[in-house]
Amino acid sequence: MEAIILLGGPGAGKGTLAEDLKQQTAYIHVSTGDMLRAALKSGSPVGLEAKACMEAGELVPDSVILRIIEERIAKESAAARFMFDGFPRTIDQALGLDQLLKKYSGVIAHVFNLEVQRKVLLRRLTGRRVCKTCGAVYHMITRPPEKEGVCDSDGGELYQRADDSEATILNRLEVYEKQTAPLISYYQRQGLIRDIAAGGHADATTALVLDVLNA
Ligand code: ADP
Repeated sequence: MEAIILLGGPGAGKGTLAEDLKQQTAYIHVSTGDMLRAALKSGSPVGLEAKACMEAGELVPDSVILRIIEERIAKESAAARFMFDGFPRTIDQALGLDQLLKKYSGVIAHVFNLEVQRKVLLRRLTGRRVCKTCGAVYHMITRPPEKEGVCDSDGGELYQRADDSEATILNRLEVYEKQTAPLISYYQRQGLIRDIAAGGHADATTALVLDVLNA
């Protein structure tokens, strides 16, 4: 097993980058945010456990996350290549991932650190809209759909995520700084961090990441 990790604050563009990489590489996209939202929608026990945390912009307990990640990894063959989006998000999750890598004979190839200024993150998150059916991500100003409120690829209805409200966004940024940003030095010590300037257009970010993957 081989893994790459997309690391960055809320709004850094992990989801959009993952969509692009899915088209252009063989990596399997594993988004804990998407998995949790699907669990919430289906009313499964994981969803019930995650609901309150997600709505407040807090992190879901590490044990829950590590459980769903292991279930996901176990489904694929030993040769699978994973792209983790939104995971790990705490040092304990990173330690848990290291254990899983040992168990499933995996290695981390790169940790892409998406660097975006805070004011840009705020602007992106308040304008974000997501397709109800396929999860595609749009932005009212920088990546609008062809027809307002409607997904270009499947015609699904676009909505604003409950945790994209202004108050929750500020909390998520704070949670990122406190709990997730320390992962940068954790992976720096292992020589895995690839800094990516991600404050511009999504295509430019994708190109920088592909340069590293194809090097
Ligand atoms: P964003 O990166 O834009 O904040 P995500 O879709 O990745 O959005 O995550 C949405 C919410 O899901 C988070 O605010 C958190 O509550 C929960 N979540 C997602 N991934 C994790 C994780 N690895 N650990 C803990 N909570 C998570």
